[in-house]
Amino acid sequence: MTATAPITQDVLTLPRKRPEGPVNLVGLTRDQLRDALLQAGTPEKQVKMRVNQVWQWIYHWGVREFDAMTNLSKAYRALLAEHFTIALPEMVSRQVSADGTRKYLVRIAGGHEVEVVYIPEADRGTLCISSQVGCTLTCSFCHTGTQKLVRNLTAGEIVGQIMLARDDLEEWPAPGTGTGESGPRLLSNIVLMGMGEPLYNFDNVRDAMKIAMDGEGIALSRRRITLSTSGVVPEIARCAEEIGCLMAVSFHATTDEVRDRLVPINKRWNIATLLDALREYPRLSNSERITFEYVMLKDVNDSDADARRLVKLISGIPAKINLIPFNEWPGAPYERSDWARIERFADIVYKAGYASPIRTPRGEDIMAACGQLKSATERARKSRAQIAAEAGQG
Ligand code: SAH
Ligand code: SF4
Repeated sequence: MTATAPITQDVLTLPRKRPEGPVNLVGLTRDQLRDALLQAGTPEKQVKMRVNQVWQWIYHWGVREFDAMTNLSKAYRALLAEHFTIALPEMVSRQVSADGTRKYLVRIAGGHEVEVVYIPEADRGTLCISSQVGCTLTCSFCHTGTQKLVRNLTAGEIVGQIMLARDDLEEWPAPGTGTGESGPRLLSNIVLMGMGEPLYNFDNVRDAMKIAMDGEGIALSRRRITLSTSGVVPEIARCAEEIGCLMAVSFHATTDEVRDRLVPINKRWNIATLLDALREYPRLSNSERITFEYVMLKDVNDSDADARRLVKLISGIPAKINLIPFNEWPGAPYERSDWARIERFADIVYKAGYASPIRTPRGEDIMAACGQLKSATERARKSRAQIAAEAGQG
């Protein structure tokens, strides 16, 4: 890079090395926590117990101060406070939609921002979390795709989004209550469907989800976590093996010609290659079907012929088709399909034997619906020309 290269520090994707200082415990795996506690001087003989205690304080009770860890001696609490912090990203704002959807703007180190959306439903509450600031991909219907990748989130920043939402929902157990499951949860499900492509930040997403699934902490079942990918084929099997969560795929088109334009990663791994990887998804079964996400774009991918091609393409894969009415954003080059069209499409898919729910847009009034997320404060934008070129339209 020359001195005149027009790239600012902010756009570099590697986190800068932090100066010596307290280490944040949030986001460390159990093994990393063990190493950190040992390095701080915890005796080897005690370390297993200490890991369990600290873990429970942070992830089960939601405690942020070492002083509140009352089953540790005062001296040990002081040792921890000297070496460590328990730090979450900062919640900058919180908007509540008329339909109860909450959108949080969350600031992470470096001043970057990501959005997190909480969607309450009668029988569950789903948190949609982000894995990257911006996205390297440029799906032409997605608002996030117009924002350059700024950087990957750390594991702490990913699990931190869940912890912030639990703070807001006041869902940490009250001190002194039992450690067992108690009643229905406000935050019962996680979808990795916010900003970014989770499989391009695999290790951090995996570590964060392992923390969220750990039975002595947040304890969400792996079946209540769904990771959505645009189709990063080489990482799909790893997702089943190393995370074990459910899989959703942004399918969106039934010919390579159209998918190349909508989801440009298709030029690298086309529909046939993607479907092969999904057929071999290690955890595939009727109870753990793959969700095919399909955004309904007027006159682009919403014909009867598309619906028929879709069911033919996926035949043999235990699947459900989630139809997403396109959510508009300023400058978007598409329109939402008419309701009658969406219903007709859903009907064809349903009659072919697949569940075909239409995703009700939630939180549209606060720009919290699918594909509308983008941090307004980020100045780094892809140009229209760049998006068009990458989408193969230029
Ligand atoms: N990067 C991942 C996950 C984030 S996007 C992925 O692409 O799968 C979550 C879902 O919202 C994806 O299916 C995405 O294609 C869809 N989406 C993006 N923009 C949208 C929009 N404007 N309207 C409706 N759905 C959209
Ligand atoms: Fe990135 Fe997903 Fe948006 Fe595509 S749809 S640009 S992969 S966030």
